Amino acid sequence: MIADNIERVRERIARAATKAGVDATSIRLVAVSKMMPVERIEAAIAAGITEIGENRVQEARAKYDRIGGRVCWHLVGHLQTNKAKQAVRIFQMIHSVDSLSLGQELSRRCAEVGLRLPVLIQVKTSTEATKSGVEPDDVMALLEGLAPLSGLAVQGLMTIPAFTPDPEEARPAFRLLRQLRDRIEATNMADVEMRYLSMGMTHDFEVAIEEGANMVRIGTAIFGAREPVG
Ligand SMILES: *Cc1c(COP(=O)(O)O)cnc(C)c1O
Repeated sequence: MIADNIERVRERIARAATKAGVDATSIRLVAVSKMMPVERIEAAIAAGITEIGENRVQEARAKYDRIGGRVCWHLVGHLQTNKAKQAVRIFQMIHSVDSLSLGQELSRRCAEVGLRLPVLIQVKTSTEATKSGVEPDDVMALLEGLAPLSGLAVQGLMTIPAFTPDPEEARPAFRLLRQLRDRIEATNMADVEMRYLSMGMTHDFEVAIEEGANMVRIGTAIFGAREPVG
């Protein structure tokens, strides 16, 4: 079932990429496995998944202990500063940097172990969407603070738009992130790369790809619905 789901998701990515005029192979698929048991993650890996997304350090750690470095681990959820040390031991990319203090702590922890960790800046693109994320107007200032940090490699932007039943309603948020990326790129800021736009989840990833996403974070369409625990 998971293999079939992945095949369908890849077909949908390919169609959206064609529509957007980009090569489907340029779009990284992160399979978001939060609340899913290791067995299902193993099934996804057997079906060709190479990138796994989790939104909590604790949960990811238990899974990482069993799966290890066979896949690339992405932290897609909010990170508390006091979990930075654990996070840098597990994840190869953190999508949710939204403050200088978090960036500084991550960089410090990376420097301890000789790492330069790829991170994305999480941007608030719709008003009531999430508590996390930096306001679009504050992104440049944050980047200026993060760029000199030796433990971090800023590689792009991420957003989670407010949920709307019609994915078309998320389009302005995705477009805003792309335009912000273009503006940042035009400044040629030293030590800041704008390679990735991490946007698009199960119900809106096609719209996100049409607006320039090259990293999509997909859970439900791969693993099925997340059952509430308990
Ligand atoms: C859960 C989650 C996803 C995946 O959501 P689906 O709708 O199940 O595809 C993507 N990104 C983040 C940040 C998430 O927390």
